[in-house]
Amino acid sequence: EEDPPYVFVVFGASGDLAKKKIYPTLWWLFRDALLPNNVNFVGYARSALSMEQLKASFEKYCKVRESEKETWDRFLRKCAYVQGKYDDAEGFKCLQKLIDGMQTAANNIAVNRLYYLALPPSVFADVTTQLKENCMDKGDSWTRVIIEKPFGHDLQSSRVLSDHLARLFKEDQLYRIDHYLGKEMVQNLMVLRFGNRIFNPSWNRDNIGSVLITFKEDFGTEGRAGYFDQSGIIRDVMQNHLMQILTLVAMEKPASLNAEDIRDEKVKVLKAISDIKLEDVVVGQYIGDGEASDESRRMGYKDDSEVPRDSKTPTYAMAVLHIKNERWEGVPFILRCGKALNEKKAEVRVQYKQVNGDIYPAGDLKRTELVMRVQPNEAVYLKMMTKKPGMGFGVEETELDLSYSSRYKDTRLPDAYERLFLEVFMGSQINFVRTDELDYAWRIFTPLLEKLEKVTPTQYKFGSRGPPEADELMRRHGFVFTGTYKWNPPKL
Ligand code: NAP
Ligand code: NAP
Repeated sequence: EEDPPYVFVVFGASGDLAKKKIYPTLWWLFRDALLPNNVNFVGYARSALSMEQLKASFEKYCKVRESEKETWDRFLRKCAYVQGKYDDAEGFKCLQKLIDGMQTAANNIAVNRLYYLALPPSVFADVTTQLKENCMDKGDSWTRVIIEKPFGHDLQSSRVLSDHLARLFKEDQLYRIDHYLGKEMVQNLMVLRFGNRIFNPSWNRDNIGSVLITFKEDFGTEGRAGYFDQSGIIRDVMQNHLMQILTLVAMEKPASLNAEDIRDEKVKVLKAISDIKLEDVVVGQYIGDGEASDESRRMGYKDDSEVPRDSKTPTYAMAVLHIKNERWEGVPFILRCGKALNEKKAEVRVQYKQVNGDIYPAGDLKRTELVMRVQPNEAVYLKMMTKKPGMGFGVEETELDLSYSSRYKDTRLPDAYERLFLEVFMGSQINFVRTDELDYAWRIFTPLLEKLEKVTPTQYKFGSRGPPEADELMRRHGFVFTGTYKWNPPKL
């Protein structure tokens, strides 16, 4: 029997995301023979482009090696380009004709369709309407639609978009990308929790003091400040990526690994989150570091010509969330994210409570922390106490350490997009955002975003750890930092 044909259509093929991310990802999957045999790739946009010109735009990001030239040519032979408008049937009819041709070439086996909207949200509605009218499968194959953030700007605009999509497609046809869900360590969260008896029984308010979820970037908004000023760090990172991590850390064990079972549990967590109070939030905006040798670090956010002088858009935010359920009541979930900070990292830090009935000299025992580092250098480490080796009886801090770079030296970790594209081909929705999940996340953040419109962010210096008020807020919520822990990296 013959393999069924597939087509992957990139709308907005002339754009930034298409050349930097989508085409390279398709190439890597194709090169590694991970895609179905009979797959074709079609770019679609308004620009008058030849396939040669389109290829030229993405080629350098594909990092094709000399030895892969033959496979690369095979990949290019599977690529086509259709020029068309987004709000007019003509181009979509051309696309449909092209797909019909693929069906004919495949002994009339119906073509499975993946439609990727790499487009500004202003044209989402037009394109999806045209797709529904002109380019759907006829019931003998499937059609899946992949969309990229932003999924609206607030609860109301997100609902308008979701309602529009719901009129055209079924939930199992919609794949909303949150690329954090494609990251190795984020996918590992469930295994760590539900695959180890040692963690799950202590994963609650009786043992855990606080959960800290962090996203830090060491560069500013250069080049995209105009776009960023419309959204801010809460919409850009917290409401989506950090909330996805929070739900995976906090949810109950799902009935199975089925996508609906998992997403049901994530939604339950979101429903139990109380309103975020303004006093539980710190927002910041970076200013230039006058002493920096690097020109870009001397630039503050508002020094950018694309940013209005009176902008109140936060480039840093910390928010303390409370989950009012039996497992978590009273445990602060501290989300923090920011740009132009001292380092680039994303991690989850679960800080346990102090030991009861401590028999050691006061202050010697430090709190156990389980750290899951999402990026860079994936690692899971447990900061813990041990007897200070040698003659004495004293205690000291150390760690159990799983560093992927040494433990899994020869394993290539796929990029988040590679994994997620493959999941769309396979029809697995575990790592995509369901409509109700998105709606609940906006319900939590929209009232806060409205209140913040009147709040002037605190200034912090480019390259610092962010506003000192944020450390103070964590401290008030019981996060303990002693500054005593020293890490001795192993000599490799
Ligand atoms: P883009 O380059 O601005 O736009 C993609 C294409 O859409 C353009 O090449 C253009 O193609 C068409 N287009 C642009 N503005 C338009 C308008 N006002 N009306 C109609 N068509 C227009 O966008 P992108 O950076 O590739 O991002 C695509 C989507 O992914 C966006 O929703 C973005 O928010 C999201 N996203 C991007 C990134 C990233 O790294 N770039 C990351 C995460 C999410 P033609 O003129 O040829 O039709
Ligand atoms: P740490 O230095 O004790 O920091 C613990 C937490 O306290 C961090 O979240 C840190 O925030 C926060 N903090 C720092 N200064 C603070 C202040 N003045 N007030 C309040 N909070 C403050 O422990 P660590 O970060 O877990 O480990 C230290 C270093 O060792 C890190 O660079 C880590 O990557 C490395 N390490 C690596 C491995 C591995 O690769 N396998 C294993 C263990 C440790 P910030 O996040 O903002 O700094």
